[in-house]
Amino acid sequence: MADRTSEPASPDPVDAARGSEFAAELEREKAHRAKARSIKPLSRLAPFVFRYPVLLAAFVFFLIAASGLTLLLPAAFRIVVDCGFAHSSASAMCSQFELGTQLSGYFLIGIGVAVALGLSSALRYYFVSRLGERVVADLRKAVYDHIIALSPGYYAQIRTGEVLSRLTTDTTLIETLIGSSISVALRTVATTFGAVALMFAVNWKLTLMVAGIGPLILIPIVLFGRRVRSLSRSSQDSLANASARAGETLAAIETVQAFTRENEEREAFARAAEATFEVALRRITVRAMMTALFFSLILAGLIGVLWYGAMQVQSGAITPGAMTQFVMYAFLAVSGVGMLTETYAEVMRAAGATERLMELLAAESDIQPPSAPAHLPADIRGAIAFENVRFAYPLRPETQALNGVSLNIAPGETVALVGPSGAGKSTMFQLILRFYDPQSGAIRLDGVDIRTLNPDELRRSISVVQQNAPLFSGSAAENIRYGRPDASDEEVCAAAKAANAHDFIMALPQGYDTPLGQGATTLSGGQRQRLAIARAILRDAPVLLLDEATSALDSESERAIQQAFEKISADRTTLVIAHRLATVLKADKIVVMDEGRIVDQGTHTELMARGGLYARLAELQFNVDAKAAAE
Ligand code: ATP
Repeated sequence: MADRTSEPASPDPVDAARGSEFAAELEREKAHRAKARSIKPLSRLAPFVFRYPVLLAAFVFFLIAASGLTLLLPAAFRIVVDCGFAHSSASAMCSQFELGTQLSGYFLIGIGVAVALGLSSALRYYFVSRLGERVVADLRKAVYDHIIALSPGYYAQIRTGEVLSRLTTDTTLIETLIGSSISVALRTVATTFGAVALMFAVNWKLTLMVAGIGPLILIPIVLFGRRVRSLSRSSQDSLANASARAGETLAAIETVQAFTRENEEREAFARAAEATFEVALRRITVRAMMTALFFSLILAGLIGVLWYGAMQVQSGAITPGAMTQFVMYAFLAVSGVGMLTETYAEVMRAAGATERLMELLAAESDIQPPSAPAHLPADIRGAIAFENVRFAYPLRPETQALNGVSLNIAPGETVALVGPSGAGKSTMFQLILRFYDPQSGAIRLDGVDIRTLNPDELRRSISVVQQNAPLFSGSAAENIRYGRPDASDEEVCAAAKAANAHDFIMALPQGYDTPLGQGATTLSGGQRQRLAIARAILRDAPVLLLDEATSALDSESERAIQQAFEKISADRTTLVIAHRLATVLKADKIVVMDEGRIVDQGTHTELMARGGLYARLAELQFNVDAKAAAE
């Protein structure tokens, strides 16, 4: 079958661009699944595991019990064979026993051993799986506790998908390791060593012969092992490729359908799925060959030993029971070695996963709370000062997003920020919230440098309405309560009324309890904004940061939003990124920004009279509004 992965690239430029993006994605995924070079990182899991000494001790106890009983079983078989099936006179061992009642006793012991083995295996499985799940739950919580506090600067450098995959896929690898691989490996090591020791005890000559066929096990592993491992990795890679593409497509389903690209997307996914199948098929074939060689070599070797053993039995050198016991031990030992080579790859992969999770746990936020934080006055007035602030985003150090900004905002004042796109308006908000620290200069709230405050305390005194008004998938009431979870129903309702959101919420099928869907996509843009305003009103903080929506709203919802803005900004310090003339006109002060600097400030009339950037912007931006206002 032709290898469809090597088909020529699609001539479609969008597809080509996405193709190279996927190639990059694939590389990252590959690196992500790369195995660790040593098992050293696994030691970092020790604190998580040793937190549960009882579970650990119970596991070790039942591990030893199950392995011991596994090794006892062949001994029981020996007696059963020698006393039950072989002629009693042929068995030296049985000659000492009375047959009959004695024999039934041995059968009963055999059944007892089997039941005890079943129980201890089950309990070993129970305790180690429970330990694995417990450790992974703790690890997930520890990682999430840590990453939710990392600054936006950190997330600008790492894909959120990558973080999520570490939280889910990597922790699952560790769960498999603790809950299964390690258990299998320890059990196998215990039974293999025990079996070899007991083989020596039963018949050392035969044991040396079995040891002679040992290297045969290595032949298939050396011949095919590496190939199987690399193929199983590439089948995971092509699967990741297929799902990355599907994920991106489904996230933009409306764009895909609007541009009628379903067929191309189907074909692209089909190609990726087929490629996964092809690689999987190659892996299965190689693995099948490896299994064939493994079993035929091992079994042929063992049969050779058996043949020799059979002659020993015939000559009376050993009893049939001892021979049975020996063969069972030999099988345990040989299959144990095979199993260990399988778990090795899993152990290495889990070591890689642990390394990546520990990296995440070690990641430090750019924004650190001071060791001895200052405090804001009990009654926050809301005076904000920018003192010669210079700032470039960490990812764009060459561009000064703010270039020497100084600004004083008096308590209770409403200040409108205006300026062309990219002027630095949103950056002012980011710095007030201390998502980033300026490279030089300072920002003060009520005279206190915000770097000396605990970020929590600072942010508690700020309410934000973002332009795209991100909401969550809960109900309308839950969304409004987001900034103050203990608010009563009456307070929620009052905030919604103040934001002009009450009427449309009441018109929803279940009123305030209506689920809004992921990202509240069941609401219109204007409704989302009003809900976000209600959320900010309920938070009731002394400083308010408002980013007006730029998207065209119908005049009724625009008026509704405007009134809501006015109500909310009446008795607190408000900084608004203004896109509407009505907002600008109502502001106490207008600050004009361009290329990271404040180029002018004053009232609308003053700025219009000066005829600078503001006048030009107003001309362009507010032309329609100005005419309407003038009428
Ligand atoms: P708009 O009105 O279009 O929202 P703005 O005035 O709010 O624009 P900012 O978002 O503050 O502009 O951006 C100021 C500059 O900083 C721009 O050059 C922008 O490209 C850059 N910038 C913004 N956010 C980041 C970021 N996270 N990383 C790097 N550079 C950024």
